[in-house]
Amino acid sequence: MLLILLAMTFSTLLLIFLAQTVFLDAIYQEYKEEELIDIKDRLLLQTDNAGRAKAASALGREHIACIAIYEYSRNESAAKRLIPVYNYEAAANCNCVVHRLLTLRPKDHLNSPGNSRMIIDSIENTLAQDKSWLLVENNVKDDPKNIMGNGLTGIAIQQEGEKMVVYFINVSTVPMTATVKTANTLLLYTGVVVIFTTLLFAFILALWITKPIEKINESAKKLAKSDYTATFSARGYKEIDELSNTLNRASKELSKVDTLQKELIANISHDLRTPITLIAGYAEAMRDLPSEMNEENLTVIIDESNRMKALVNDVLDISKIKEGVLPLCLQELSLTDAILEELTRYNNLRKKDGFVIRFLYDQNVWVFADKTRITQVVYNLVNNAINYCGNDKTVTVTQRILENRVRISVIDTGGGIAPEHLPLIWDRYYKVDKSHKRATVGSGLGLSIVKEIVAQHKGSCGVGSVLGKGSTFWFELEILKQENL
Ligand code: ADP
Repeated sequence: MLLILLAMTFSTLLLIFLAQTVFLDAIYQEYKEEELIDIKDRLLLQTDNAGRAKAASALGREHIACIAIYEYSRNESAAKRLIPVYNYEAAANCNCVVHRLLTLRPKDHLNSPGNSRMIIDSIENTLAQDKSWLLVENNVKDDPKNIMGNGLTGIAIQQEGEKMVVYFINVSTVPMTATVKTANTLLLYTGVVVIFTTLLFAFILALWITKPIEKINESAKKLAKSDYTATFSARGYKEIDELSNTLNRASKELSKVDTLQKELIANISHDLRTPITLIAGYAEAMRDLPSEMNEENLTVIIDESNRMKALVNDVLDISKIKEGVLPLCLQELSLTDAILEELTRYNNLRKKDGFVIRFLYDQNVWVFADKTRITQVVYNLVNNAINYCGNDKTVTVTQRILENRVRISVIDTGGGIAPEHLPLIWDRYYKVDKSHKRATVGSGLGLSIVKEIVAQHKGSCGVGSVLGKGSTFWFELEILKQENL
């Protein structure tokens, strides 16, 4: 930042310096020439000598210009050839051609042949160049006696019948070299001041802009090393405030995911270790003691294997769905039939454990969905309801039509979920009961799988729950068609 600011300052100063030394003189000369031409144009508007005298005096005063007007006639005798009409001498411009023409007395008096000759030479020179307006270069070589004097001089010739009216006009010019020198000295001083101010500004800017960034970088390095205690406290201006807030949020989310993942690993390893121990134990017993080789023990081994399979499937499913590896296979599907079919899987549970699993519907509703995925949603919700249901062991699934959408609700009368947990249970790996009792099996992934699948179907899902009374989990999909039953 310091380098950029210094580079900008130096280039600006250099530009000003170049403008002063190279262009100032040219611009000034041009401006003076324009002033001269303006005076000439206004003088040429006059048609008689009285008017010319009046205009010359006014213009001379206005522009601090010296003006000499002559009548010149080539055909007249030498004495009458050049007749002075009017002179205006600006006091501040005393070293100009007009002053010269008048003050070369007595030797070179205006009426003396020498002086007149010089004036006539100038006029003839202008006429020879076939011009009515000639700017006289202040060139010492062409004008060794410095007749034209200082400043900028122009000669204008106006034809008036037989004779000519000739105007010598001079405007003063200030020698630019001195001005440029002064300006450059001034530039040197201002340059030093500007550079110091730039350094000061750069320092303040660095403090203001880069310091908070450095601070954020320090915290970000901590975060990169998975230190989630890193807080982003840098403040200063809007963008930094926003960045700090965003990074704080990101750090919080990362820490949440990290905690949940750690919990998941702990839970999964716990969930896997128990069935593995049981399977190994029972298998060893059956190998060593032939009396243990019975159906009951084999069922334990099969149940435990299934439990492991379900857990591993959950973990695999969620990662596949998240990565989009499993594309949807959409088809026209009778949701009502699919649910009925899915619920038959629980027939065993109904018979053996006395569960009541009801499905209330009055229409056959068709949706555009992936059958496997949607039945997985129903399965996860019903499974949760069974796992967390109350003593009445009743789970009710209902189907309701809401305009162009169908809502499937899975209702249980279990312990319910505390309001503070409600928004979190859809997160991956979230479990209300951290103590992870074996009775409540689950990977903490069931609901996030539900959320993902429903979102893939452009549907919505939600939950209502009252502690001690039970929960209602629901999802909605757009209806393709419906049939009365
Ligand atoms: P899990 O595999 O642990 O059931 P889920 O994602 O399906 O994981 O559910 C997350 C958490 O939400 C569960 O651990 C449980 O605490 C809570 N939960 C889900 N369904 C119910 C329900 N019907 N009644 C009470 N709590 C529930």
